[in-house]
Amino acid sequence: MKDGHPEAGIDYPRTYADLLAWFPDDDACLEYLAGLRWPAGFRCPACGADGFWKTGRGQWMCKACARRTSVTAGTIFHRTRTPLATWFAAVWFVTSQKGGVSALGLQRVLGFGSYETAWAWLHKLRRAMVRPGRDLLGGPGVVVELDETFIGGVSRGGYGASTDKACVMLAVEKNGRKIGRMRAQVATRPGTIEILEFAQAVIASGSEVHTDGAQMFRRLADMGYIHRRTVAMRTADKETLLPGLHMVASLLKRWMIGTLHYGIATEHLPYYLDEYTFRFNRRDSRSRGLLFYRLLQQAVASAPHPLKDLTLSAN
Ligand SMILES: [Zn+2]
Repeated sequence: MKDGHPEAGIDYPRTYADLLAWFPDDDACLEYLAGLRWPAGFRCPACGADGFWKTGRGQWMCKACARRTSVTAGTIFHRTRTPLATWFAAVWFVTSQKGGVSALGLQRVLGFGSYETAWAWLHKLRRAMVRPGRDLLGGPGVVVELDETFIGGVSRGGYGASTDKACVMLAVEKNGRKIGRMRAQVATRPGTIEILEFAQAVIASGSEVHTDGAQMFRRLADMGYIHRRTVAMRTADKETLLPGLHMVASLLKRWMIGTLHYGIATEHLPYYLDEYTFRFNRRDSRSRGLLFYRLLQQAVASAPHPLKDLTLSAN
């Protein structure tokens, strides 16, 4: 680690061959996860002591109070019966493909017996793609474009139900002409002040926010934002009013169609938005290995999601 920046070949594998050499078994994977989970070294959550023995599979036992802590407890890897090296390979495939992988693709590559297993794994990984307490958009010199957009091909109800459009709230940074980071969230009440709650949750106070002329945005100025509102005379003008947001919206729609071969169930849409956001905000990463590192780092900070919590549907 150099100045807090993880380095290829030292902090994360550079290639798939590296991955296989670094992580031959569970012990190697657990060591790596422990380093990500406790970057400053292990400390007992019960008494705060830092001395430990390793006992059993991924158990760190406190020398002072004998409390056992599992390195995977509370993470998506908790109580998994699959070798961790297989999980690591899945994370590698998910992060090394620019557009991501489908459940079918993952099933083929890892030789899973069932499509359902691959599907559940992908969903667990998607849930790890959003970092808890992540940074807000905006700040000095950065404009944030804010609007709603409609995404087609989302099915309401069960398998085989007709597809519909879902409303997604988008916030996209513009730094001059350059597009920065994005955030996305499903709107349950399109065209209402719900988008103001979204703005407050993802955009730093004091930032300059650009919107179209819709009435609901008028309150942004009272919420601590510098609000620039432009009224479009024609629908076609909307694209030029919020160019960054329009670009991201069309890329997102294309990704949805390209990566996911079936309609998305409404209840799963938030996780696809998380995956897209994870990929988009790291699109300039020179090394795919760095995405591997980031996703594992976030995974050991995420809560577990047993398969029974996930409703299996078309995708
Ligand atoms: Zn202790």
